[in-house]
Amino acid sequence: MIDKRDFLPFALPDIGQEEIDEVVDTLRSGWLTMGPKVKRFEEDFAEFLGNGIETVAVSSATAGLHLALEAVGVGPGDEVITTPYTFTATGEVIRYLGADPVFVDIDPATFNIDPKKIEQVISARLEARGKAPKAIMTVHFGGLACDMDAIGNTAHRLGLKVVEDAAHTLPATYRGKLVGTLNSSATVFSFYATKAVTTGEGGMVVTKDPRIADHCRTMRLHGISRDPFERHASRKPSWYYEVVAPGYKYNMTDLAASLGIHQLKKAWKFRERREEIAGIYDEAFKDLPLVLPPRPLHGDLHPWHLYVIRLTDEANVGRDRFIERMMEMGIACSVHFIPLHFHPYWRDRYHLKPEDFPEATKAYERAVSLPVYTKMSDKDQDRVITAVRNILE
Ligand SMILES: *Cc1c(COP(=O)(O)O)cnc(C)c1O
Repeated sequence: MIDKRDFLPFALPDIGQEEIDEVVDTLRSGWLTMGPKVKRFEEDFAEFLGNGIETVAVSSATAGLHLALEAVGVGPGDEVITTPYTFTATGEVIRYLGADPVFVDIDPATFNIDPKKIEQVISARLEARGKAPKAIMTVHFGGLACDMDAIGNTAHRLGLKVVEDAAHTLPATYRGKLVGTLNSSATVFSFYATKAVTTGEGGMVVTKDPRIADHCRTMRLHGISRDPFERHASRKPSWYYEVVAPGYKYNMTDLAASLGIHQLKKAWKFRERREEIAGIYDEAFKDLPLVLPPRPLHGDLHPWHLYVIRLTDEANVGRDRFIERMMEMGIACSVHFIPLHFHPYWRDRYHLKPEDFPEATKAYERAVSLPVYTKMSDKDQDRVITAVRNILE
């Protein structure tokens, strides 16, 4: 039996005294919901990305993706191209708007949506409906940036909008530029508890387009044209506001932003440590019957949100048994992702079959996500390596 103290969780947040002090300061301030700390977090995030990017803090990436898709004009009867190799949030926000996802298989070299297949699918949809899909929603799997030049070119040529689900991608670069500053209409980051930069729950919509930012700002808080802190700070009567649309309750709180302000300062340091862990895994596993995670091209920076190995046919165990044996040794692993076409809702609603997405299906069947987070010690990592070698050697 494994002693409880020896259990290595799959993920742990890295919260310092600065975050704790900031939360306490917020509690003492008397302003708990969206206020000065959210404003500061948004300003810090804008500075982090540079390039005049606008930032809108929200209650989750799911909320942010919903707002971003709505802002680019996705509505009932529209189609949105996306990957099945993702978390269900990516697909569900398309359904919120009464639109339909069109799933496109991944490139097995990157586990990201295959840009060549996007072209083919757009042609097929044009043929079938006389109308191209409205948008493409990319997911940077595990943090590895999609081929945004190829996707952007296709989208631009055929008149589709691009929204990036960057839930795994803080911070990452694509051809030297930070994800969040690329050629898409909007990019959405997640600060969920297991993500690299966390506020417990939270997200950020970022965009170069002031109209998209305005839409998200208004809709995140009931369709009210000014947020409560601005109302408080402005000279207009503090009780007065105007509702201009049936908005949502998607604002971030100052409590969450208190965490975000300090987490963001450590984003580069966190990335560096996770890269170090990934490098040590790569070296330790290179002779084993598994495929190592893909590395970025062009010297780009990978955030290593996930470290996913794929067992090969030569491995003496299957994926499920591998994870069981890791657990017996007190190490939690995970699987990213159960592709959407395996989930009853998506499978049945859109009549999806595994053969429709052979690469996503194959990637899933062999995938194991190993622990990769800054709270892991060298000793923790040695344990993981010893366990993996024990099973596969
Ligand atoms: C975590 C995650 C989300 C959802 O983020 P929340 O902030 O929890 O809403 C969306 N897409 C992907 C790919 C994710 O991993």
